[in-house]
Amino acid sequence: MNLSVKILIALGLGIIAGLSLGAEGAKFAAAWIGPLGTIFMNMIKMLIVPLVFSSLVIGVCALGDIKKIGRIGAKTVGWYLGTTFFAIILGLAFGLIFEPGVGVNMPGADVKAAAKAAPPIMKVIVDIFPTNPLDAMLKANMLQIIVFALFLGIAITGVGERAEYLKRTIDGLAEVSYKMVGYIMKFAPIGVFGLVAPVVAANGPAVLLPLLKVIIAVYLACIIHALFVYGCLVKFVGGLSPVAFFKTVMPASLLAFTSCSSGGTLPVNMECADKLGVSREVSSFVLPLGATINMDGTAAYQGVCALFIAQIYGVDLTAGQYLTILLTGTLASIGTAGVPGAGFIMLTMILTAIGLPLEGSALIAGIDRILDMPRTSVNVTGDACVNYLVDRSEKSK
Ligand code: ASP
Repeated sequence: MNLSVKILIALGLGIIAGLSLGAEGAKFAAAWIGPLGTIFMNMIKMLIVPLVFSSLVIGVCALGDIKKIGRIGAKTVGWYLGTTFFAIILGLAFGLIFEPGVGVNMPGADVKAAAKAAPPIMKVIVDIFPTNPLDAMLKANMLQIIVFALFLGIAITGVGERAEYLKRTIDGLAEVSYKMVGYIMKFAPIGVFGLVAPVVAANGPAVLLPLLKVIIAVYLACIIHALFVYGCLVKFVGGLSPVAFFKTVMPASLLAFTSCSSGGTLPVNMECADKLGVSREVSSFVLPLGATINMDGTAAYQGVCALFIAQIYGVDLTAGQYLTILLTGTLASIGTAGVPGAGFIMLTMILTAIGLPLEGSALIAGIDRILDMPRTSVNVTGDACVNYLVDRSEKSK
């Protein structure tokens, strides 16, 4: 039986176990089943820093010249921004069609949940540049690690012969990290079961029903974005059957769905890219960048949620406000870290930009984990899609 099927079965079993444990069993699920998922994710996460660092350095060295890095970089960022933009439009469309906020009452109670505001844009940009690369690694600050690794790769290429030993060592680290991911993934079904059961137990039907429309709108926007946008891109630009694409990246998409972490799924996404036939040289550049800046699912979610909150306050948005949502949403999704719940914090940035009360997001806070699942899955699938497209266009040169 292949891994995707095993993971799917584990997902199904996790949902059944969660539903049968229910709200009374939620504590038990968190205490005794949850750790299976936590251990699995810890094992995967322990590889993120060595893997991203080493594979990026080697990726840059393999590209060889600055021109090629610039070309691949431009293509990658272009695709990432384009798909994200489209995702927000889709999110807004679903927010308009479903009107999830119409008729919802805003409880005054848990306003505090939404009080954490997003950082200002300039700070996000300045923070990309590390003062201490080791500190960046200790804190697993992906953007800073990316900047350092890119520089190191360029410098190793610049030095040439005398840096050969360093290059080989880093190459060895990359290979060993991939190997470890492969070993750990054998336990993915157990991990997925452990991740899902407690979430389902804690978020039974009673929690979900009142906000069902938001949930449906976000899920549909995510599913349609993935199937339609990625499906078409892979087929018409990449020349690959969408079925083959989705099947191959399924382990990464499912792990993202259950773990709600693009960063955590990165090692697995890299393994799937190998199976798609994407060259390591491209994957090791495009995927770490995507796990950090490309968040299409988050963008779609932000579109739906911004409209939802406007609707509960009875605010009719102007054309200018829609445009602001598009622009800040794209920026917010770039600034969103690939960790659980990050998109929710960035939602406050959009609300502030269009002048909606932050308190509105308190309603979302309660169901955010359920919305995090599809959006993270789309985030990761989007990275895989762009990775494939960039590789294709490089190979056709
Ligand atoms: N959890 C998402 C991710 O890791 C980010 C988000 O919260 O939207 O991709």
